[in-house]
Amino acid sequence: MPPMPSRPYHLVTLPKPVTERLLREQFTILSRRVLVVSASSIAACALVVWTFWTSASHVYLLALLAVIFSLYSLSIIGAWKWLSSARREVSPRWQRVRIAGVTAIAIGWATMPAVLMPQAGPDQRQFLMMIVTGLMFSGSALAPLLPAAIMFEAIITVGALIAIPTANENTALQDAALILIYALLNGGGAFIQNRDFARRVLNEAKLEEQSALISLLLRDFEESASDFLWETDCELRLQRVSSRLAQIMACVPATLHGTSMMHWIERSGANPSSEENVGAKLCAILAARRPFRDLQVALVLQGRQRWFSFSGKPVLDAAGVFQGFRGVGSDITAARQSDAQIAYLARHDSLTGLPNRTQFQDALTAACGGDAPFALHCLDLDGFKAVNDTLGHAAGDSLLVAVAGRLRACLRDDDVVARLGGDEFAVLQVGVLPGEVPGAVAEGAAALAQRVIDRIAEPYQLGELSASIGVSVGIALRDNAGQTKEDLLRGADLALYHSKSKGRGVWHIFEAAMAARAHARHTLLAELRHAIAHDELVLDFQPIVDLATGAITGAEALVRWLHPQRGRISPAEFIPAAEESGLIVALGEWVLHRACTEAASWCGTARLAVNLSPVQFRDPGLLPLVDAVLAQTGLPAERLELEITESVFLDTQETTLACLNALRARGIHIALDDFGTGYSSLSYLRSFPFDRVKIDQSFIRDLGVNNEAAAIVHAIVDMASSLGMRTTGEGVETQSQADLLALTGCGQVQGYLFGRPCAPEAIGSAMRADPPDAAFGWPAAEILVLNEC
Ligand code: C2E
Ligand code: CA
Ligand code: CA
Repeated sequence: MPPMPSRPYHLVTLPKPVTERLLREQFTILSRRVLVVSASSIAACALVVWTFWTSASHVYLLALLAVIFSLYSLSIIGAWKWLSSARREVSPRWQRVRIAGVTAIAIGWATMPAVLMPQAGPDQRQFLMMIVTGLMFSGSALAPLLPAAIMFEAIITVGALIAIPTANENTALQDAALILIYALLNGGGAFIQNRDFARRVLNEAKLEEQSALISLLLRDFEESASDFLWETDCELRLQRVSSRLAQIMACVPATLHGTSMMHWIERSGANPSSEENVGAKLCAILAARRPFRDLQVALVLQGRQRWFSFSGKPVLDAAGVFQGFRGVGSDITAARQSDAQIAYLARHDSLTGLPNRTQFQDALTAACGGDAPFALHCLDLDGFKAVNDTLGHAAGDSLLVAVAGRLRACLRDDDVVARLGGDEFAVLQVGVLPGEVPGAVAEGAAALAQRVIDRIAEPYQLGELSASIGVSVGIALRDNAGQTKEDLLRGADLALYHSKSKGRGVWHIFEAAMAARAHARHTLLAELRHAIAHDELVLDFQPIVDLATGAITGAEALVRWLHPQRGRISPAEFIPAAEESGLIVALGEWVLHRACTEAASWCGTARLAVNLSPVQFRDPGLLPLVDAVLAQTGLPAERLELEITESVFLDTQETTLACLNALRARGIHIALDDFGTGYSSLSYLRSFPFDRVKIDQSFIRDLGVNNEAAAIVHAIVDMASSLGMRTTGEGVETQSQADLLALTGCGQVQGYLFGRPCAPEAIGSAMRADPPDAAFGWPAAEILVLNEC
């Protein structure tokens, strides 16, 4: 049989460690009671023997005395052993032995009324009943071991109930009832005692646990580097100075002990700079003996300002007399510093140290709250991205820092300059106080904007590297109180947009017409979005002709917008807006798909030219798009020519080149469009092996007008052919232009002279014509048709 686990007999559910403790306590208390109860019980038994010695059997009386004496003696020995043992562990055997011992004693006692009652006289019966009730009450001493108490009560009660009728008394019924009442009373009492005892043990255990936790926390608190306990006497002199406090205050405990807390706070020069003197406040609270919490005080210790948080409360004695203060303190210097850092970063740009957008907005709100006129300048650097891409981000960062410095130097102290993000800055120009002079705000703002533009445009030396950038400025003037912050920001933004579109490096002051233009542009974009989705776009194709043979070698796809109200809209009007808004990606996708579908039906080797915007190059979806379109339309890659302008190289060159190479690797031709209009054209020619260079119409237009144009065209053709590239002259309108071009060695031409951009059906039938026209590879009738469309 497995050993029975030790189990305390109690009426409260307890956790295991408390159960073990309860068992031990139960046995201890029982053992203490056993000593007293046993002694008095043996004495009572001796009294019984003496009382009945003359009337009852000596054998029984002596046997009763012997049994009672020996059983109680055994109990005393057991209790003694328990109390004197160091390891008081309750085993199930112990419990059983105790219960068995109590049962035996009870049986011994129970025989007494049964044996003695029948022959007892009235006095002796009364004596017996007293002994029985006394025994019943002594049984409640066993309450800690509930089964023993119940067993004892029950056996004594049964013995008494058996004996009462044998006495043949008139009050037998009442006696029996009384015994039963006593039994219930004692049993119930034992229950309650047992439960209360268990609860008491549980509470004690909890208290001990809590105090252990508190001392652990206190130790932990004192050991942590920033916290300390402090205490004063009723004169507010520091008492029991801990080594932690002394260490924080940079002195030995003995020096601090007895010093006045107030003196100490005042002497440390608490919060000299703060608006509210918290040190004085703390002194006042201490003097008023009021409790306080988390009062943050700055103390200058060893020449360094440190921050402390104090909490404390007055200590009163039992009579309510003030004894001093007791509390905790902690060194919160690090937390304060990081709070200050966070607060700084929340309002400053971490790179340049200038105010950030949040702070600028606040300054603007404050300025709008007043009546003084001011100017809001929005600045956007020109060419910053190119510097960042070519010289690297570190150089870009240094450049921004240098720009911030120059801007600051251009302004007065009252003005606010902020970095709004990226290469955007803003200036709040206050103090353009014109007095009575009309327009002086505008003059002051214009003068500053020009100064800023000139200063920013000066070259930068960034370590080993040098760079040049520009800045475009948009200005909004606050000259009447009706303008809100939002109005001004929108106005300056529109003016900046205007400056950017007017060639950069310039300033413009906001005018109502700009808002109207912006609105028109907004409407245009919304309509264009609609147009792309609802098939309002069409493609025209303009033939490209071989100048020597006159044969059509291909055609360029040019998009047109058939607006339901405005009619045909030129791409020159909507392509720039589409590029700015990013809509060009969707538009370009449509064009490529539509153009390739058309060109796939052309016969021979006629090549399709499609214009690609730089924005499309930035889109990582370009290559997959081209692949998908070629696969879907079945147009061979070598019959597709993509026209790009030099501006694609303004972006990250490496990715641009990688994309161009990937396109070429597929057999697609790459043409450099509008050549000669860009900034550093020749270097771009060398940067990539273009298949074709398209000479811009502006040079062709001037052919025959001035010699310079002819020289330039000559140089371009020579240079291109030396690099293995073919050339196309664009916008050829007259025969003399064609003749002059032929003299330069230019291979192909495109222009109204050979065919205007025309509908897909017209170019399609021209491409499928067989045989081609003798002069230009173009059937005479078709030339007519094409020139008419
Ligand atoms: P571009 O690529 O330089 O296209 C040539 C432009 O010159 C076309 O103007 C064409 O109609 C015009 N042109 C052709 N021959 C002559 C001529 O003999 N004399 C004159 N004065 N003009 C001639 P268009 O169609 O108005 O296109 C303007 C620009 O819009 C194009 O210039 C091109 O940059 C852009 N564009 C047109 N379609 C697309 C497109 O699908 N995607 C992209 N990204 N741009 C496009
Ligand atoms: Ca083109
Ligand atoms: Ca062109």
